[in-house]
Amino acid sequence: MKKILIANRGEIACRVIKTARKMGISTVAVYSDADRTSLHVKMADEAVHIGPPPSVDSYLSIEKIIDAAKATGADAIHPGYGFLSENDKFAEALETEDITFIGPSAHAIRVMGNKLDAKEAVKGFDIPQVPGSPEAVQSVEEGIGIAENIGWPVMIKAAAGGGGKGMRIVRDKESFKDQFRSAQSEALSAFANDAVFIEKYITSPRHIEIQILCDLHGNGVHLFERECSIQRRHQKVVEESPSVKLDDTLRHAMGTTALNVAKACNYSGAGTVEFIMDASGHYYFLEMNTRLQVEHPVTEMVTGVDLVEHQIRIARGEVLALTQEEMKQTGHAIELRVYAEDPLNNFLPSIGRLVKYGLPKGPNVRVDNGFLEGDEIPIYYDPMIAKLVTYGTTREEAIANMIRAISNYDIEGIETTLEFGRFCMQHKAFKDGTYDTHFVSHYFNPEIILDTMAAENKNAAKAALMHWIKYKNTVRIPH
Ligand code: ADP
Ligand code: ADP
Ligand code: MG
Repeated sequence: MKKILIANRGEIACRVIKTARKMGISTVAVYSDADRTSLHVKMADEAVHIGPPPSVDSYLSIEKIIDAAKATGADAIHPGYGFLSENDKFAEALETEDITFIGPSAHAIRVMGNKLDAKEAVKGFDIPQVPGSPEAVQSVEEGIGIAENIGWPVMIKAAAGGGGKGMRIVRDKESFKDQFRSAQSEALSAFANDAVFIEKYITSPRHIEIQILCDLHGNGVHLFERECSIQRRHQKVVEESPSVKLDDTLRHAMGTTALNVAKACNYSGAGTVEFIMDASGHYYFLEMNTRLQVEHPVTEMVTGVDLVEHQIRIARGEVLALTQEEMKQTGHAIELRVYAEDPLNNFLPSIGRLVKYGLPKGPNVRVDNGFLEGDEIPIYYDPMIAKLVTYGTTREEAIANMIRAISNYDIEGIETTLEFGRFCMQHKAFKDGTYDTHFVSHYFNPEIILDTMAAENKNAAKAALMHWIKYKNTVRIPH
């Protein structure tokens, strides 16, 4: 493998380029009109223009990506996450073109890409599952019957869903019909598949997932857990490893379960098995993400393993260079996703120009970034601009480092989730580790950030006034 094309943009394209360079492999970036001058284009050895801004005409076009690989002589493609990373037809097309897909087989992607197929595939592998409908629910009556059987509340989910989209919580029979219909139509428009199913709604859940690596020769290891319960719109904002909820026995059990899920689909490469854990500590299989995960850096920080390097080695056919016995989880890492979103306005996208942009630095700080000062944040794509990751020997240290790094993140021109991150790090429920996936709805209130900002403004004004009183006789104000 001499040249890798990265079929992605933003921070993850930059992230993959870094490891490829470390391994002496050259890189090809692809870009749409919206990304002509982007950081990933500047970082790569070569770059190919693949079309107009809308993803369907650029980053989601299998044909254009393959043409770009052929034109530059790239012998492998890394898909990053999102876009084509979980598209079995893409993986299949690369097989016929004799280009290596840095990811699992088309078969594994297909099976795990559909939540119902995944549940079916893992039967017989001793995997705990959330009670629910084993197949797509066809009618309102059938759905209500299932819900009455497992008990309200229930969750209606899109079989082909992802990114937190297409989910509905239904609390009673009366509201079922409307929710069912809208879940179906949302699933159809978002995923071109209207199949929906029902799961028991776990009322105080934690999202805990296991990172795995499997080679093409039947070897596999798990790299412990990531706790991802701080979410908005069913999508993660803060992730950490280890989880305060797991002891070594449970960690080992979940790791073994995750590797069994991988076996069920003959998995190869880096993957993540997601679980939901109820208040009494029972865990259930949610889904498997057959790609590199957004929050993979926290695992890298606590294990010292470069996951992208192992993805590449596995795709090259190498035998996994890691054994379970060697795997160690040391210290604590926390990631905050820096989204161009306004936490004061329901986390709605806040696009614009990065008028000022300076990143925090330090030995226990890692920033996976995709942008430069002066860049416009395009409206066409996911609004995540960077990931801020901190490390500490203890959880308290990682939290303190995160608070400091947030203060040192110099950003002007757009609203971001940084202030939400500070709120979270300072909140008692987060510090105690007693939070669940409802953290945002239970505790977060924009007023709190506004109050903090007002208090800071007051302090700043006081400090300036004191300074003025002290030096008013010596300070000369230029006219
Ligand atoms: P992770 O599971 O790695 O935390 P997210 O759920 O935050 O990932 O999604 C990562 C990216 O992939 C986002 O850009 C999200 O919109 C996109 N994504 C995830 N699953 C799908 C899917 N099934 N279809 C389309 N986009 C998806
Ligand atoms: P996606 O493919 O969109 O990532 P997941 O099945 O992984 O969908 O679920 C995303 C999030 O939705 C979970 O992390 C959790 O917060 C919530 N969720 C999913 N299923 C349930 C459930 N049965 N009960 C409670 N919350 C759930
Ligand atoms: Mg998920």
